[in-house]
Amino acid sequence: MKAWLTFSPSIVNKTVISNLVKTYDIEFNILRADITPQGGKMLIEIGGTQQEQAIKFMEKEGIHLNPIKKVVKKDEEKCIDCGACISLCPVKAICPTRDWTVEVDNELCIGCGFCTYSCPTRAIKVTE
Ligand code: SF4
Ligand code: SF4
Repeated sequence: MKAWLTFSPSIVNKTVISNLVKTYDIEFNILRADITPQGGKMLIEIGGTQQEQAIKFMEKEGIHLNPIKKVVKKDEEKCIDCGACISLCPVKAICPTRDWTVEVDNELCIGCGFCTYSCPTRAIKVTE
């Protein structure tokens, strides 16, 4: 599961994430992070058998978790494989293939919607 974590200033200096990884049998991958002493956000991917317990632990410690449920769909009829959407993707979820067609990897996509602004044929959309 991918999710945004929101940190308030009061928990920025706490060792919540390291305690989480030590306590639970989870896979915890940080995809993006923007945290200052004033608080911030972290984009994570979490997996493993104790995922639910780990999420409860974070929420109990005051970290707000917002799961990402959005996916990107590309209309193959409308897409002209121009590649304009590729450079806008902050997580490199859109790539050219060997035959120069453009593919979206929804495992990487964070649903930000940046790619949709660039498409000249409106072939790419973010959906729930
Ligand atoms: S919605 Fe955002 S993350 Fe997903 S493919 Fe488009 S630009 Fe990349
Ligand atoms: S910008 Fe639109 S037309 Fe161009 S490659 Fe991306 S989805 Fe296809």
